[in-house]
Amino acid sequence: MTIFNKRQQELAEQIDSKIGISKWKDWKWQLKHAITGLETVESSLGVKFPEQQRARFKETIDKFPMRVTPYYLSLVDPNDYQNDPVFKQSFPDPAELQVFAHDMLDPLAEDKDSPAPGITHRYPDRVLFHISNVCSMYCRHCTRKRKVGDVDYIPKKESIEQGLAYIRETPQVRDVLLSGGDPFMLSDEYLDWILWELRQIPHVEIIRIGTRMPVVLPYRITDELIAVLKNYQPVWINTHFNHPREITTSCREALAKLADAGFPLGNQSVLLAGINDCPRIMKRLVQMLLMNRVRPYYLYQCDLAEGLSHFRTPVSKGIEIMESLIGHTTGMAVPTYVIDAPEGGGKIPIMPNYLISWSTHKVVLRNYEGVITTYKEPDSYEPVFCDRNCEKCVLNLKLEGATEYPAVGIEKLLSDYDDTVALVPTDTERYTRR
Ligand SMILES: *Cc1c(COP(=O)(O)O)cnc(C)c1O
Repeated sequence: MTIFNKRQQELAEQIDSKIGISKWKDWKWQLKHAITGLETVESSLGVKFPEQQRARFKETIDKFPMRVTPYYLSLVDPNDYQNDPVFKQSFPDPAELQVFAHDMLDPLAEDKDSPAPGITHRYPDRVLFHISNVCSMYCRHCTRKRKVGDVDYIPKKESIEQGLAYIRETPQVRDVLLSGGDPFMLSDEYLDWILWELRQIPHVEIIRIGTRMPVVLPYRITDELIAVLKNYQPVWINTHFNHPREITTSCREALAKLADAGFPLGNQSVLLAGINDCPRIMKRLVQMLLMNRVRPYYLYQCDLAEGLSHFRTPVSKGIEIMESLIGHTTGMAVPTYVIDAPEGGGKIPIMPNYLISWSTHKVVLRNYEGVITTYKEPDSYEPVFCDRNCEKCVLNLKLEGATEYPAVGIEKLLSDYDDTVALVPTDTERYTRR
C-alpha cells in the first residue's frame, strides 16, 4: 500500500475534492490537473502573494506559461519555498522578462538545421527528432522556452511521416534521438507506431528517448509503457534530474522499472544559478543517480535563450564543479560538462586542465590531489600512415560493408588521407582582399 504524505493529500483535496488522493498515481489525472494558475500554488503553500508581486508573476506567465504536475509541486517545501529547487524550476520569476543583448530566441539554431519537420540534423550520424511539442510541466529553464505553451500539440501522423521519410532516405543516420517536448506525452499506441516505423529502417542502429517524466511525473512509467518500449531495443533513455531533492521514492520506482526492463539510463543536468551551482549538491546528485542505475551523461552550461539570464552561472562555476568530481568520486558519476554552442555549433566539452607540460619524451600531468607526475612516452612508436585502405593495413577493421564517411574538422586535419592543411574562415578581410 502506498503511503501518501500530508502535502500530497492536501494538494489532491484542493485540486479535486471529489476524487482526492485516490487518483494521485494516475498519470492522466496528474496531467489533467496540472497547475497553471497562481491560486493553487498559493493555497498549496499556504501563502498569499502581495498584490504587486502577483501582478508581476501574472505578467511573466502571460509571456512564458506555467504548468506543474501536482506530484512535482508537492515536493516543494512550503516553509522555505523561495529557496526551494523544485519551486525555482517550476514557478515563474519576473526576471524571465529581462532580455539582454546576447539572448537569442533559438540559441542552438535548431530551426535552421532542420531539413524536415521535427528533425534537427546537426551531427554526421545522428538526428534529433521532435515528436512532441508538449510537456507535463514547463521547466522555467527550458532552452526551447520560445516554444513553450504557444502551440501545445502532438504532431499529426502526416508530420511525423515526413520526419520518418527523412531518416529513411538518409543512410548516415544511425542514431535517432526522440525529443520534444516530452516524447512520453504521447499515448503508448502513438509511441508504439513511431518506434515500429523507426525499427523498420535498417540503418537506424539505436533509438534514444529524452524525457523528464521520471523526475516530474514518475507515474507515467507504467508497465504498459515498458511493454511497448521493450519491443524496440536497443533503446537508451536519458532523463533530467537537477537536484538530489528530486529523487523521491516514486522516482526510484520508475527508474528501477526502466533499468529492470533493460534500458540503459542516463541523466542530463543543467547548471542553474541558485539551484545546483554548488559542488556539494552536484556531487550528491550524481552519486544518488548511480544508486538508481542512472549514469550522469551531460552537465549543460545554461543556454543563451531569452528569459534564462537569471539562471546563468559563469563557466568557471562548471569547471569548479568538474574539479570537485573528477577523482573525488566514482568515475562513472562524472558527467561531461558541455556548452551547446550558438549557431548550431553543437556541444563543446569543457574540462579543468590535467596536462601541464610536454617534452618529446615525457608529459607532465597533475591529478585531483595536486600530485604532479610524469608519463614517459614510448621510445619507439611506428606510426601507421592511414589511407583508409584496411586491406593493406596490419590492423584489423572488418567493417562488413558498413559505410564510412569523410572526416570532418580537426579529425580531418590530423588525418593522412586528406590533404587539407588548414581550416580557414572565408569571410575575413584578408580573404576578401585576395
Ligand atoms: C545533443 C544533440 C544531439 C545528441 O548529441 P550526443 O552528444 O550524441 O548526445 C544530436 N543532435 C542535436 C541537435 C543535439 O542538440
